Amino acid sequence: MLFYSTNHNAPDVSLKNAVLNSLPPDNGLYMPQVLSKLPDTFFNDFYDYSFPEMCFHFAKTLMNGTIEDDALKGIIDDAINFEAPLVELEEGLSVLELFHGPSLAFKDFGARFMSRLMSHLVAGDDNNLDILVATSGDTGGAVALGFYKTKRIRVTILYPSGKVSKLQEKQLTTLGHNIRAIEVQGTFDDCQALVKQAFLDKDLNQQLMLSSANSINIARLIPQCFYYLRSLQLVKDRNRPVAMCVPSGNFGNITAGIIAKKMGMKMHRFVAANNANNVFTQYLNSGSYDPQTTIPTWSNAMDVGNPSNFKRLMDIFDNDVNKVKKEMSAYAFDDEATLIALKEMYDKYEYIACPHTAVGYLGIKQFLKENPEYQGIFQATAHPSKFIDIVEETLETKVPIPEALAVLKDREKQATLIAVDYDSFKEYLIKHK
Ligand SMILES: *Cc1c(COP(=O)(O)O)cnc(C)c1O
Repeated sequence: MLFYSTNHNAPDVSLKNAVLNSLPPDNGLYMPQVLSKLPDTFFNDFYDYSFPEMCFHFAKTLMNGTIEDDALKGIIDDAINFEAPLVELEEGLSVLELFHGPSLAFKDFGARFMSRLMSHLVAGDDNNLDILVATSGDTGGAVALGFYKTKRIRVTILYPSGKVSKLQEKQLTTLGHNIRAIEVQGTFDDCQALVKQAFLDKDLNQQLMLSSANSINIARLIPQCFYYLRSLQLVKDRNRPVAMCVPSGNFGNITAGIIAKKMGMKMHRFVAANNANNVFTQYLNSGSYDPQTTIPTWSNAMDVGNPSNFKRLMDIFDNDVNKVKKEMSAYAFDDEATLIALKEMYDKYEYIACPHTAVGYLGIKQFLKENPEYQGIFQATAHPSKFIDIVEETLETKVPIPEALAVLKDREKQATLIAVDYDSFKEYLIKHK
């Protein structure tokens, strides 16, 4: 199976090329040339599959024989070794918890699958791989843990100084070995721009074999399809239409859901929940797309002013806002509403959520108000303890810290501080080759 660029101005490439090069030379994003329909056998056995079995059969269809069955099975069994439980809050409203992986955020699905896939793809090559990744918080931790000690792959994580939580920062700056962190005196969009520039820098690419682990990489999107299907396996009422609300930033998560639907998944509606960074919501309302500078919020992993996966969505929906509206709704909520929602979930359901999840809760509630015939699911994209200060302050209660995070508290941060300046970044990469 081949992959094309959403800008349609670059050659089609193999899976290996799409995954290792990450960005096509025409500055588009890679997409699978065909989105094969899931076969009838998949749906016949759907409710009998275990989670990894279902992932395997889905990925086999999506990847269309590019990887041998045994290898694909191995990658999935190793990567998807934690659950995505569906917790019912009340009749017709459930939360899909995606934070049971090692970094306690949904990005573990993407990062763990990707590291194992990359490892498989470079087995037998001569060169070492350098992965550059920009993070607004959770990607860094997931990628750091997902690639930690992976042979012949080194990871460089760029994060915006002072704009990630303390525990998030610990996750990406304390591992050492093949993982290094760069603290950028700017925003997430600045970090993302530095990484993009590095990929387009011919000179640098002759010196290093660069690859990306951001949500622009197609390898991240594949495993993010899995839990949408999982939620449909777990849902109690199999006959009532399902609306899935996704707290969104770069829109990689929700784009994966749309891809799965294109392949035949029976999800009836996608709801994007934005924080104050609401360019997508505005796009659905007005039909015009106007990137903004980033506004910092409590749901910082969604602080994105120009969502990178917008290009993929436009490609899927032929640049037609009316086609988008047939599948997707979108709502935006500010910080004040987010914190009120956090409190409401605790008071009503004794459910402790992270701020991103609270935005998702607001999104599904709004949608269900307008469309009561649906059952609603919203995604819990991170564990509340990753944002412990604001959650404890809002709920006036202690948030239990899982062991995986607790151990990081005393570890020493190791990061290189740089200004938003491409030349300094490049110099660092070359000097520390
Ligand atoms: C990354 C992230 C998001 C946004 O996901 P996108 O794929 O960028 O839309 C939402 N919530 C949390 C906790 C995240 O880490």
